Amino acid sequence: MTGIDYDCAYCGEHHQGTDGSQADPWPALGFRRPDPYLDLDTRSRRMSAQATDDLCVIERGTRSDCFVRAILPLPIIGETISLEYGPWVQIGVGSYLDYVEHYDDPHHAQDYAGQLATALPGYANPLSVPVQVITRGEMRPLLVPDSTFGHPLVRDFYDGITRTEAELRIRSMLLPAAST
Ligand SMILES: [Zn+2]
Repeated sequence: MTGIDYDCAYCGEHHQGTDGSQADPWPALGFRRPDPYLDLDTRSRRMSAQATDDLCVIERGTRSDCFVRAILPLPIIGETISLEYGPWVQIGVGSYLDYVEHYDDPHHAQDYAGQLATALPGYANPLSVPVQVITRGEMRPLLVPDSTFGHPLVRDFYDGITRTEAELRIRSMLLPAAST
């Protein structure tokens, strides 16, 4: 057996033997909420947080922490495809307001400084990685890690990972879903 089998959250079908190509895409490795939101208890979520699958704001006294969901592609070495994560990123209030204001603008292309807000599995201290958040109209914004920052995630973004490694990561992320 080769490829990845999974139940598709989008079309509801069971896809078999997917190889990450455009015709047979791998599942998106998405995260429904940013980690700082998941760290809140139920009451704090209700009292001081607002979240959708794309936007999240947490009120912390006089400060607002703002998060958007993005796409982080890791290229597969020697191929033209990527493993795509759907992590959250924290951006400044001004950037967030700009993003929300242009949320439905198909031509919006801006560039914000951000900080990863989803601890991608398998990486030590991934929240420390500075990223650029590049909006792409109606698509989720693209994350580009700071190339000068020494971190395995930065290396994987620029140098790529092997197909074997990508399949291993997808399988390990599918496991918890399969057991519920
Ligand atoms: Zn599908």
